[in-house]
Order: sequence, then C-alpha cells, then structure tokens
Amino acid sequence: NKIVIAIDGYSGCGKSSTAKAVAKKLGYTYIDSGAMYRSATLHFLNHSVDIYNEQQVIDSLKQLIISFQINPASGLQETYLNGQNVESDIRNMRVSNYVSEVSTIKAVREALVAQQQALGQKKGVVMDGRDIGTVVFPHAELKVFMTANLEVRARRRQQELAEKGQEVPLQDIINNLADRDKTDSTRKESPLMKAEDAVEIDTSHLRFEEQVDKIVQLAHE
Ligand code: C5P
Repeated sequence: NKIVIAIDGYSGCGKSSTAKAVAKKLGYTYIDSGAMYRSATLHFLNHSVDIYNEQQVIDSLKQLIISFQINPASGLQETYLNGQNVESDIRNMRVSNYVSEVSTIKAVREALVAQQQALGQKKGVVMDGRDIGTVVFPHAELKVFMTANLEVRARRRQQELAEKGQEVPLQDIINNLADRDKTDSTRKESPLMKAEDAVEIDTSHLRFEEQVDKIVQLAHE
C-alpha cells in the first residue's frame, strides 16, 4: 500500500537528497517543495516584482507555472519555471538569500500549497520542505523531522555546491542557513516546526545510507 511521506526540517539537513533516495528505493515520486519556493523567488527577481506589493505578487503568481521533469541523460529530476530549466539557477546564493523572505508571504504559500496538495493526490509520494507534515499533508501516513548541527550542515552544503562548481566560503553558508532557520521558524505563516506525530532523526552523526534506510524501514511499518 503506497503512502505519503512528509519530510520536514531545517535548511541543509540533507532532506532533499534523503527524500530522493527514499523515493527511489520505494518506487515513489519525489517532490521538492523548496524548489517551488525557489522558483517563485527567481520568477519575482526576473520580473522585478516588489514583494511588499501584494497585488503585484498576486498578479505575478498567475504567470508562474512550475513543473518537474526527469533528465533522461542523468536520470535526475529537474525543476522547470514556465518551461525553462531552472534547476541550477534556483540554487544560486542570490535566490538562497532571498527565498525565505519570499516564503513568508501568505499569497505565495497559498498558491504553492495548493499545487503541492494537487501533486500529492496520488499516493506514493515523498515531499520535503518546512510545513509538509503540518500544513500540506497533515494526514501523511509517515512524517519525519530531520535535524543536524549547523556546522555539519554548512560543510555538507559547501561540498554540494563545490561539486557543481560553486566555491562559497563556509561562513557565508553558515550565515545563510542560520538566517533561513530563523526566518522559517519565526514567520507568522506556517512556521517550521515538528509535527506532533513526526519521527525526529538527527543526522549529525548518521551516514547517508543509514538515514535513508531508517526512513524506508519506517515506511514499511
Ligand atoms: O528546501 P530548500 O532549502 O530548498 O527551501 C528553500 C526555502 O524555501 C526555505 O529556506 C524556506 O524558506 C522555504 N520553504 C518553505 N516551505 C517549504 C519549503 C521551503 O517555506 N515547504
């Protein structure tokens, strides 16, 4: 029986790589909700939308179509914004430094939550984010809340960016993760928090395969 798996947690805990691997093992669909907030952010930047002007935001959201496609060459899922592949652009520091601010906007959350819920209609979905177990899928059969200490997270993220050819100083990454944690946990609209029925996994001292196996095992219970 296929289920919905919600994975939430702080920035840079390895939620998306873990969620991807879990989805692969279970034959599920992976949906990266963070990529959707990042795409909305890129869209606003590209169109110079004043995010403090509600009408501009609402109008701009109507021109926003986000989709995911598997790249046949790599087998990896990539994000498309209005038909353009933005997988790399949405990970840059300009977007990373702005996305949490954009994610505090009610109209943005409403639009993206509705899309996420539609994508989760069919079971067999792993979705990661900040409010998946609390707001998007409060009835998910399995909820996981991932944590890890800040420096471990920053080093892992630095490594990931380096693999993609972006050299970013560790301190810049620490500052970005800490800022996003703060904005995400203190915002008024669906703040980041552990759902009551979520299983907490601290990945500071876990190997990647261990955290993946743990979740796969929970999914079978
Ligand atoms: O998951 P990722 O780090 O790519 O998400 C980028 C940002 O998008 C987060 O820092 C957070 O501000 C926002 N976000 C959110 N709700 C989600 C997923 C992401 O507010 N469900």
